[in-house]
Amino acid sequence: MSETYKSEPVQRIGFIGLGMMGLPMLENLATQGAASGFEILAFDTANAPFEKLAAHAAWGTTLRRAATLDEFAAVDAVITMLPNSTITNAVVAGAGGKPGLVDVLKPGAIVIDMGSSNPGDTMELAALLAKAGATLIDAPVSGAVAKARTGTLTIMVGGPEAACARARPILEKMGNNLIATGKVASAHAMKALNNYVYAAGLLAASEALLIASRLDLDLARFTDVLNASSGRNVATETKLSQFIIPGTFSAGFALRLQAKDIATAATLQTLTGVEAPQLNLCKALWTEASAALEPAADNTEIFRFLQQRNEAAVDS
Ligand code: NAD
Repeated sequence: MSETYKSEPVQRIGFIGLGMMGLPMLENLATQGAASGFEILAFDTANAPFEKLAAHAAWGTTLRRAATLDEFAAVDAVITMLPNSTITNAVVAGAGGKPGLVDVLKPGAIVIDMGSSNPGDTMELAALLAKAGATLIDAPVSGAVAKARTGTLTIMVGGPEAACARARPILEKMGNNLIATGKVASAHAMKALNNYVYAAGLLAASEALLIASRLDLDLARFTDVLNASSGRNVATETKLSQFIIPGTFSAGFALRLQAKDIATAATLQTLTGVEAPQLNLCKALWTEASAALEPAADNTEIFRFLQQRNEAAVDS
């Protein structure tokens, strides 16, 4: 495989994982990418996303459904936007005797993992793909469903420079803030640490809100105070009055995925030898919440979990 081949522009793109984030990201990629000549093959084990995609302007022309992974043999790049590393690595490497993407991709192809994966697993996948002549980029996103819809995600990008440069025209259709983080897996490490900081802020805001509600304080006014003061964070600005106080709990980020991200951040302690006691406390609470609430619970339901936990403590 020659460098010339590797630097050819990406035209044929695969997209795997059309959930809360993947679907709006794909919709933007298909809309914005039509003028760039992108042809996109989409794959998901669920049918529901395709019912929605059927209404897309590009559907049936430059955007089509792949029935199996075998159809990805011709793509130049594949995006994965799957729930976690276990699923991502199984799809890419194959599992249970089933072949994976690595068995069908052509040499020179790029795999762009946009999910929030575990950096250790990402490094294993990068080595496996390299053996097959393909390159892995980790490109996790920040900005939640709202920014996925508007194509204004922040995208952290790790991996070899030439592959990142080839991926840039694709990523720019989904995000407006691309941050190069360094070598492969560096973006996944930064994403996990970012999500720990976010989770700690959401947990603190939820605990404060619960105490404020027991004090019969005006919760809207309390949110105003936080947002005008040093307690302000992304949770106080975008989650309290929007999803927690009205009780809709529909921010679009599953609590089990949030717990997964904190657990990923916690594994970095072993890797680095850094002890982070608050991270461990945070992990324990989010893990407990994930086990206590239903699998589809939204991350903002951490507030509901704290409410239930306190009611249980009062009853006992
Ligand atoms: P999701 O659970 O809504 O979607 C996952 C999709 O993957 C589903 O459509 C599911 O059917 C599909 N899928 C699962 N296993 C599959 C397989 N083996 N083959 C093909 N498709 C399969 O998850 P999401 O909220 O879209 O999150 C995706 C990733 O992005 C996660 O890593 C998450 O942590 C991260 N993330 C989410 C948000 C958010 O706000 N939701 C924000 C930033 C990052």
